[in-house]
Amino acid sequence: MKSARKPHILIIYTGGTIGMIENPETHTLQPFDFTHLIDNVPKIKMLDYIIENIQFNPPLDSSDMNPKYWMEMARAIEDNFDRFDGFVVLHGTDTMSYTASALSFMLENLHKPVIITGSQLPIGEVRTDGEENLITALQIAAATDINDAPMVQEVAILFENYLWRGNRSTKMSADNFNAFKSNNYPPLAKIGLGIHFNEEALMRAVVKRPLKVRYAMDTNVMFLDLNPGIPEEILRHQLSAPGIKGIVLKTFGAGNAPTYLWFLDAIHDAVERGIVIVNVTQCVNGGVHTKRYLSGDRLAAAGVISGHDMTSEAAITKLMYLFGLGLPPAEVRKYLECSLCGEVTL
Ligand code: ASP
Repeated sequence: MKSARKPHILIIYTGGTIGMIENPETHTLQPFDFTHLIDNVPKIKMLDYIIENIQFNPPLDSSDMNPKYWMEMARAIEDNFDRFDGFVVLHGTDTMSYTASALSFMLENLHKPVIITGSQLPIGEVRTDGEENLITALQIAAATDINDAPMVQEVAILFENYLWRGNRSTKMSADNFNAFKSNNYPPLAKIGLGIHFNEEALMRAVVKRPLKVRYAMDTNVMFLDLNPGIPEEILRHQLSAPGIKGIVLKTFGAGNAPTYLWFLDAIHDAVERGIVIVNVTQCVNGGVHTKRYLSGDRLAAAGVISGHDMTSEAAITKLMYLFGLGLPPAEVRKYLECSLCGEVTL
């Protein structure tokens, strides 16, 4: 039975192009306040929802995003979790996939929608995509299934024509309105004349547990992006970065890397020192198959964990989350090989 109660939605405005205006002197776009944003979308009133908001002060260009702000978002969601049916996070597109991945790990046992959106053009511009994205995100946050349960029970990104699982998404374009994609997972919904949910792809917990927020994210992690010709000194220098605990190694093709002895030795030495190295592909689509080629197999033999088809955004935030839990390297390695919230196909 569908309830007649009005949906209660909390908007968390963190910044991003959606709320920016042009600085008349420099002509660059700069974050602006929420009142300006909402004044530009009078249609919101037609939704007949109860909407409240929290805004970051000051709003951010998402290039300044870091775990301190993820904590702020998670806190806003936890503090208001029981009062609202869903949450819409307005965020810059540049690091949106990192935030979506991070929140998916931090918000354990999530069973309400956290829909992240933004836009390519500011909401004050005539051809803006922001108005439609905001309204659709609100509708998705309010959507329920036939049992009156939230249709979306996870962190997702809504952008233009698609809803994507947050920890499967990647920013694909700096120009197109359809800026995001999950290259290894189907869309959670397609948006056309209607919003068509792909119910088979949506996350459903087997047992519903209370929300548990994990605030600590350990930032002693980094990407190491391979290129042909990488010199030994540079590789060893990167693998010896002070304080480093985890590395996302971005490899060629199906998870392949050079087979030179010095290369494999350097990787093996780092693993022996307790650094957790996870292998993700530089390809936009597909994943790591360490048994397909000798080069991938050697990397695995040196102690590198397969990231399978995880995005690099999910892999790096998963490392932050697992080390943030205070787990020793052996446990981090174990959980990297598990799907915690739908981030990887095993
Ligand atoms: N630089 C902006 C940001 O990420 C880009 C955007 O929102 O599209 O905050």
